[in-house]
Amino acid sequence: MTTAAVSTLASALASRDIDVVQPFQLDRSNLRGRMVRLGPVLDEILGRHAYPGPVAQMLAETITLATTLAAALKYEGVFTLQTKGDGPINLMVADVTSAGAVRGYAQFDEDKLKAALTDEVEKAPVPALLGKGYLAFTVDQGEHTQRYQGIVGLEGDRMDDCVRHYFTQSEQLATGIVVHAGLSDGGAWGGGAIMLQALPDEDAGSVASDAKPSDLEDDWRRAMALLSTVTPAEVLDPALPVNDVLFRLFHEEEVRAYDPHGLAAQCRCSRERVVTVLRSLPREEVAELKVDGAVDVGCEFCSTHYRFDDAELETVYGSAS
Ligand SMILES: [Zn+2]
Repeated sequence: MTTAAVSTLASALASRDIDVVQPFQLDRSNLRGRMVRLGPVLDEILGRHAYPGPVAQMLAETITLATTLAAALKYEGVFTLQTKGDGPINLMVADVTSAGAVRGYAQFDEDKLKAALTDEVEKAPVPALLGKGYLAFTVDQGEHTQRYQGIVGLEGDRMDDCVRHYFTQSEQLATGIVVHAGLSDGGAWGGGAIMLQALPDEDAGSVASDAKPSDLEDDWRRAMALLSTVTPAEVLDPALPVNDVLFRLFHEEEVRAYDPHGLAAQCRCSRERVVTVLRSLPREEVAELKVDGAVDVGCEFCSTHYRFDDAELETVYGSAS
């Protein structure tokens, strides 16, 4: 990395224009929004795996979308965005805690992936790489609470099309969302998204309740037209301050920014958690998984390996009784 690149990154971090969620509101059109821009978070997560380019690209978009959707929800716990399909990438998982810890991983078939890499992939990566399947949104707020899950078929060419399809199908608040991700010239991952959503009735100002439906439709169309002009550079480039981008796009809609919050790449796995899982399984079954004298449990999210040799297994099961 050049000195210039380092100082750009440092100043971006100082003003929190990277790995950040920026909530905002458009006063004129009565919409609320979120802009997310990820950099080091994606590098950290993707750097723990050696995914082929197209897999890393899809996962980067999925992680960016997960952080954006999570930022629009009120929850205490874990939000998960997951895809499952019959294509080369059979599974992607990205989850975000209410504290801003982000992680993700993908599972893919190397042979299927090679066969799928045609000129069509860039135009329509979802059908080519994910195939037929579904997209699931889950909010888990811990024990003694009801888990919320929404599922929708994978419809559309790109990941953000699938998310829009979800909002249309589930008849939730009208939602517009755009995502971009990619590698910079310097080889760093970036992801960025902007989401606009109608205000729930109780949050809408007096303007909205007095407004005629046709005015609301005009507001919505105008905002969507502006959202559709977002370029990849605007959401991705850490040299462009997030608030400048929002002002550039939405100044006529009277954009108002709220306090931003940060995101960090962080896994929730631990040896203790693995021990709990092992204890929930019959000891004989676990013993059968031994390779070279030890059971090796790997975390799919962060690739950390937890090894248990005979003496350690004795501790796991001995102290369980
Ligand atoms: Zn982990």
